[in-house]
Amino acid sequence: MIDEILKKAVNNKKISDDEFLQLLKINKEEDLKKLCETAVSIRNKHSKLIKLTSTVHITNKCTIQPRCKYCGFAPKTSTEGYYESFYKTDEEILKAAISIEEAGIPRVSCSGGYGYKGKQAVNATEIVKSNTSLEILVNVGGDLTEKSINKLADLNADTVCCNLETINEDVFNFVKPGETLNDRIETCQGVSDAGIELSSGLLVGLGESLEDKIAHLRYLNNFETLGEIPIMGFNPYKDTPMANHPPSPLEEQLKIMAVTRIMYPEIRITVPTPTIGPKNVEYSLNAGANNLATVIADNYPLEVKGVGSPVCGNYDDVVSVINKLGLTPQTI
Ligand code: SF4
Repeated sequence: MIDEILKKAVNNKKISDDEFLQLLKINKEEDLKKLCETAVSIRNKHSKLIKLTSTVHITNKCTIQPRCKYCGFAPKTSTEGYYESFYKTDEEILKAAISIEEAGIPRVSCSGGYGYKGKQAVNATEIVKSNTSLEILVNVGGDLTEKSINKLADLNADTVCCNLETINEDVFNFVKPGETLNDRIETCQGVSDAGIELSSGLLVGLGESLEDKIAHLRYLNNFETLGEIPIMGFNPYKDTPMANHPPSPLEEQLKIMAVTRIMYPEIRITVPTPTIGPKNVEYSLNAGANNLATVIADNYPLEVKGVGSPVCGNYDDVVSVINKLGLTPQTI
């Protein structure tokens, strides 16, 4: 049965929700291997280029209350996270962006907490776009207004990210009691309406069902400018209300990556190195991912703790894994 579904995938035939569910239910190692190989062949048919994205965390100050239960990013949420509050100066943002460009990484993600109506994102975009040739992804969740989205469009922001995390509203409300799913959906729609490429992804392992995951992936297709789907595995941050919630098993993350690749053959599938774990980057590339995020080069001037886990992927390590797999890292 799995073989039949994968054959359909390779031949670009329509796959039903039930069939996708069967792929997510795979529990034999040999079937998982076949699933991942199928995803890789689909990705490679389109391109073997792997994008690299570094990061600048603009601020960890965030007005969302109550805090998202898994948050280790905002001040005083986790002793493993940043813990102390910060708001990077324009000079610090500029220095970090220049270091990313000098390292040969083509893209930067500028992200931060809520409470600025997108001004933090607009300011970082202005700095990056007027001083470097970097592509930029902006991620301040739903902390954007129509005005700030339009300003980002005027500044030629390449991508704006607003992750729905999960489309299961009960799970969303439980883990993110200070936000609503609808607000995030409206932000995604606003980004799409402004003609900016949308990135919107899944945080897997929060308690959603397999059906929720498939429904979520299908739902994303409603956004006309969708160009990127981040797949993030839940990792508990110490001291947070979800500190004892189990981490998302690697196999579950690989299955959803591979299914995403089959459903969206040409989309950018992003895997943040902190959530997969830097040593597991190879597996994500072998499951159809084509963008590695939170890649940090040795010359990076700031302290950086990954969102979802404090450890980040080192640029040299990541590039050597990409080369080892016969893929091409996209560098400047
Ligand atoms: S996860 Fe993001 S939005 Fe939620 S409380 Fe933390 S910083 Fe704020």
